[in-house]
Amino acid sequence: MQTIDALDSTLRNYLSPEQTNHVKRAYYFAEQAHYGQLRRSGEPYITHPLAVAGILADMHMDHQSLMAAMLHDVIEDTGIEKSAIGNQFGPTVAELVDGVSKLTQMEFGSLEEKQAENFQKMALAMARDIRVILVKLADRLHNMRTLGVLKPEKARRIARETLDIYAPIAMRLGMNNVRMEFEDLGFAALYPMRARRIDAALRKARGHRNELVEKIGHQIETTLEQEGHHVEIVGRQKHLYSIYKKMKSKRKSFSEIMDIYAFRIIVDSVDTCYRVLGSIHSLYKPVPGEFKDYIAIPKSNGYQSLHTVLMGMHGVPIEIQIRTRDMEDMANNGIAAHWLYKSDGQSSNGSHARARQWVQGLLEMQQRAGNSLEFIESVKIDLFPDEIYIFTPKGRIMELPKGATAVDFAYSVHTDVGNSCVACRINRRLAPLSETLQSGQTVEILTAQGARPNPSWFNYAVTAKARTNIRHYLKHQTREDSITLGRKLLEKALLSLDTSLEQLPEGKLQDYLTLHNYDEFDDLTADIARGNKLPAITAQQLTSQVSGDMLRRGEAEPVAIRGTEGFMVSFAKCCHPIPGDPIEGYLSSEKGMVVHRETCNNLNDLKENRERLVALRWDDEVEGEYAVELRIEVENRRGMIATLATRINSMGVNIEKISTEDKDYQFTFVDLEMMVEGRVHLARIMKRLRIIKSVHRVQRVKN
Ligand code: MN
Repeated sequence: MQTIDALDSTLRNYLSPEQTNHVKRAYYFAEQAHYGQLRRSGEPYITHPLAVAGILADMHMDHQSLMAAMLHDVIEDTGIEKSAIGNQFGPTVAELVDGVSKLTQMEFGSLEEKQAENFQKMALAMARDIRVILVKLADRLHNMRTLGVLKPEKARRIARETLDIYAPIAMRLGMNNVRMEFEDLGFAALYPMRARRIDAALRKARGHRNELVEKIGHQIETTLEQEGHHVEIVGRQKHLYSIYKKMKSKRKSFSEIMDIYAFRIIVDSVDTCYRVLGSIHSLYKPVPGEFKDYIAIPKSNGYQSLHTVLMGMHGVPIEIQIRTRDMEDMANNGIAAHWLYKSDGQSSNGSHARARQWVQGLLEMQQRAGNSLEFIESVKIDLFPDEIYIFTPKGRIMELPKGATAVDFAYSVHTDVGNSCVACRINRRLAPLSETLQSGQTVEILTAQGARPNPSWFNYAVTAKARTNIRHYLKHQTREDSITLGRKLLEKALLSLDTSLEQLPEGKLQDYLTLHNYDEFDDLTADIARGNKLPAITAQQLTSQVSGDMLRRGEAEPVAIRGTEGFMVSFAKCCHPIPGDPIEGYLSSEKGMVVHRETCNNLNDLKENRERLVALRWDDEVEGEYAVELRIEVENRRGMIATLATRINSMGVNIEKISTEDKDYQFTFVDLEMMVEGRVHLARIMKRLRIIKSVHRVQRVKN
């Protein structure tokens, strides 16, 4: 069992006395905080944080990481607050401890593969300081080493999680030693029988092989020494889990896998790597296709080495890895090795800066190798994610770009959900769709039948999927609306010529479309609705009748407006027509059909373009609410506006705009814009307003 004194002497090897004291202070603080708590094994709780710090000290991690390791369970298990840790040990250590606690609170459970990968990324994304991950990995490693004391069910859950989440994270960070230990311990806990069987077979095989291994090793060593290379040769043993995985994935028998002898040759320089490779290849014949140069082209986590397979005596395959001491450290400790190299006695210059340096190192390595930078992307994305990870209410994880909002999330769940969303809950709190999401949040989308995408979503939707869908929907909607309206207008124009689409001479319509470069009839009607083509003239051309009357509005029925035409019909802001008002349409080339009141002054000005005017009427089944303006003259009295607004609201009417203008010392004008169903509705409202005391006059605004 580790003691603080033993740790102390390890720390003095690479930390300053002051830093060592900081770590010890954190230890005593934690010991006090966990006082009286025991681990399941019966040991005092403090043995756990101490062991976690010990693991990190072996990696030569900086003093702040070690302090965080000492304190990592304090927030979670003793009720001491983050702020208290901040006061004692500074904000950085408090952030680290808090980050580790947050990861600890996430229970991953068993997951499908895709989800597991997202969880790994989520964990990385949530840890703003990469050291949080390193402390968490060390914490998990100690827990895995002491898994035996837990109830089998809990042990299995933790083992599963370790294999699914933490071993891959260790791999992403290039921490191979940690990863292999995770895998072997996890494998042994999950499949004790299989692990025991492989382990026993392994021991037996080793006994038989030892002699041969020694012989081969000796031969290699002698050859290299004769050629003047001073190297270290290590016989490699495969770890349990990798044997198991190979047996499973490559369908090989245990003896097939074990019939391979593996050595690692550690040398002093990159140059030597290649020269040693040459010597080895002249000693035994290399197996074609098995040579890999991971020095020139490192693996995405920074792993570098030469790999080759030789055909040894009696046809035994021999796997050889050749690498420098630095590469060996990198292969074993990955990102943690970076701390080992760069710790220069100074206090940490920001962990992200360090992680960035690590990534930068990988990048330079790659550039020297002279190939594409793509490979680095995977590492960079993991450490400095441009993605966020969001839970659905059912616990599925969705990956979204940074800055994504609930609208993006809705569309990533399903296009229909996006198209009909109206609001959302973020971590159960009602929130607007525009809110920017953060990794780890649970988001639930509220939808409503008949809801439509809103053009304003463009202001905050960031994903291509959301934007394309919103655009597509709006455009499609606009087009459908305009086709319907254009067809109505054309039919009406034809009617005034005593004909109809059905009655047109055979082929006439098709000829017309061809002549005017329309692919289909819908394109023509859409053009009519947009005001690019005048219905009367089109009708005339279609029937080949020319007469002066054509340009006049015919006797035919006016076009009926239902209020459901959508984007292609709008209501003029100058006169605010409402159902019941006599109306007339103006076909604008930008806005499509604009509905005015017949008495509107603007309409009079527009009458110069009479071919653009369209006779309209309200449909009998008109729907929706329409804006209308009222001017109310009231006595100057406190609370008058509130009285008015309350009265209007009590009738279920929405006020869109409200403003006031003083008339004289006695009276004020209140100008209101509100939404009504039509003239009858408006009359009822005006009546209710007139009976308010102090209301002098209520008038609808005419322009
Ligand atoms: Mn712990």
